[in-house]
Amino acid sequence: MYKVLKVWLKEGKEQSLKRFHPWVFSGAIKKIETGVVNGSTVEVYSGKEEYLATGHYQQGSIAVRIFSFKKIIPDAGFWESRIRNAYNYRESLGITGNAQTNVYRLINAEGDGLPGLIVDFYNGTAVIQTHSFGMENEIPVLAQALKDIYGDILKAIYKKTKKGNGNKKGEDVPLIHSGQGEKNEYLYGSDDTKIVIENGNKFKVDWETGQKTGFFIDQRDNRKLVSQYSKGKRILDCFCYNGGFSVYCLQQGASEVHSLDSSENAIQQTCLNVSMNFGTKANHKTFSADVFDFLKENPNQYDVIILDPPAFAKHLSAKHHAIQGYIRLNMLAMKCIRQGGAIFTFSCSQVIDRRLFAGAVTAAAIEAKRNIRIFHSMSQSTDHPVNIFHPEGEYLKGLALHIGE
Ligand code: SAH
Repeated sequence: MYKVLKVWLKEGKEQSLKRFHPWVFSGAIKKIETGVVNGSTVEVYSGKEEYLATGHYQQGSIAVRIFSFKKIIPDAGFWESRIRNAYNYRESLGITGNAQTNVYRLINAEGDGLPGLIVDFYNGTAVIQTHSFGMENEIPVLAQALKDIYGDILKAIYKKTKKGNGNKKGEDVPLIHSGQGEKNEYLYGSDDTKIVIENGNKFKVDWETGQKTGFFIDQRDNRKLVSQYSKGKRILDCFCYNGGFSVYCLQQGASEVHSLDSSENAIQQTCLNVSMNFGTKANHKTFSADVFDFLKENPNQYDVIILDPPAFAKHLSAKHHAIQGYIRLNMLAMKCIRQGGAIFTFSCSQVIDRRLFAGAVTAAAIEAKRNIRIFHSMSQSTDHPVNIFHPEGEYLKGLALHIGE
């Protein structure tokens, strides 16, 4: 039986929920019903006893993550309809059942009305990552819904937890990070090959040991765009990870690609992915080095430079430092690149918005003293939709820059 537990907001604090923003911050809460623990499903009420929304409670700055603004009973049928809705959206984009691309994000948290939940689909394996205790509790139901929706296409379900949280489910203690400290495991089936295809390119993706759920799916559309400018060009793929951009550029006829990452493991994965697509024929070299040093030491060699660094700011407190990092990185690339070349520069720091990022790139251009034109403004792939009421969901932004004299 679903027992309704309640949370009441302070007077006037209901405005953001009335604008359908899916987060309730702890400071907005007046009272929490006895019995509410980390992961509880709660109904949120205004001070005047007006129903506002239903979500998962968790101690921390974001106290309730809302998944419905209508009074519902969050039973198996509810979760299945949400997942089906997400699936139908991707189907309408032509991403599902596509022989050229069998890797995509199925559930993008708030962007799909499911805060705290990420599900990535890797050629028959669904990798689930939860970022809240509430979603963690729903995993058995979510897994069943995935089986029902995909049928035979679904070969495995792998649960991947986020590192860095020692709290236990249901424990009434402050959380340092969201996400669970429990083990990674297959909930259903398994896959030992782990080969996916993206826009016709093959990749080996290790969701068990890799970063995030194994692959940066959010860059799919940008990899395609960048590769359209790579024919006959010398390319430097900075922060290459498992070589997504490198493989696409080689596919589109780049004359030479250099892949650069400070992690030896990332370099090995890049080599594997390049050889899986091109054997030994590719004009490809790897460098295990620091991007900042490499750019200083190798001027005037490249026609295209890709800058896709890890998030420089993971928290608001690191914002200033992160901006300095983006300025320095972009300035070094602008000085390094050949005249007439192109830089594709990205930021995946959620706290650095599009305007701030553009400001950092402009500051870099001033320091580099070069004429620069913007010819594309980029975002995350279409399977990472942004809920219009939750602009924080737009985290990946990029600029394509033409570098003149
Ligand atoms: N472009 C990749 C994703 C990049 S993830 C893709 O499309 O899939 C960020 C990568 O940057 C990681 O592999 C990490 O090892 C690397 N990295 C972080 N700091 C670095 C530095 N200072 N120099 C070189 N590589 C770095």
